[in-house]
Amino acid sequence: MKITFVGTGSGKSSLNQFHSSLVISSESYNLLIDAGDGISRALLSNEINFNTINGILITHLHPDHFAGLPSLIVQMKIANRKKPLDIFIHQSFKNVIIDFLLRSYIFPERNKFEIQYKTFKNNQVLKIGNNFSFIAKNNSHLSKLKEYEASYPSISLYSASLLLQSEDKKIIYTSDIGSVEDIFLFKEFSSDLFICEANHNEPALLVEAISKIETEKIYLTHFSEDNLKSLSEILASSTSEIRRKIIIAEDCLSLEI
Ligand SMILES: [Zn+2]
Repeated sequence: MKITFVGTGSGKSSLNQFHSSLVISSESYNLLIDAGDGISRALLSNEINFNTINGILITHLHPDHFAGLPSLIVQMKIANRKKPLDIFIHQSFKNVIIDFLLRSYIFPERNKFEIQYKTFKNNQVLKIGNNFSFIAKNNSHLSKLKEYEASYPSISLYSASLLLQSEDKKIIYTSDIGSVEDIFLFKEFSSDLFICEANHNEPALLVEAISKIETEKIYLTHFSEDNLKSLSEILASSTSEIRRKIIIAEDCLSLEI
């Protein structure tokens, strides 16, 4: 599997980082995880052709994770896309995404390619292509918004952490989380690569928690420039074992496992 950190930024717009997004590629499938504000420029900057993307998975509905979706679909159309596009979303997002695209004047009748919505339930294994699948688990990233649930009952508070699996390789991606406990949502699995967001937990607490994870390598993403400074300082004063295990990702970084 090939992993590309398309962007590593937090929800704060920056001139130096795009919002966090990944492309995970198996032999025959390129999956984009999250399509926040600016995703089309982020892909251009990574020299990723829009139409090589087979599917897009949206982890949750914060703008830095999904607001760039209509403009990316327009770019695919301009680039003369013909092959279908899969959109993987939690079942509670389907109507929101369909409506968002329609209200951006993306009418299915005017596209030369089909958009296939593939909804998932919490904890369900969903196939992506041949020998490529994922499981999403709801984390606590949006639990602070629960107090508004009664006033806005149609709003989904689902936020996915992911386990992606291809043949004999496993990747865990926390996406945005709410607490360090969310890091251990897939603790029954050992992964070949663990990708952790670094914006919603205090850096020292985060490094201490992720050091306990059984995995080959941990890459940190979704950090602001301020987080980056603290994380770099903490890692610099950590043991050589931790420094070998925990790596701070950067935009356009690609690796293979
Ligand atoms: Zn978020």
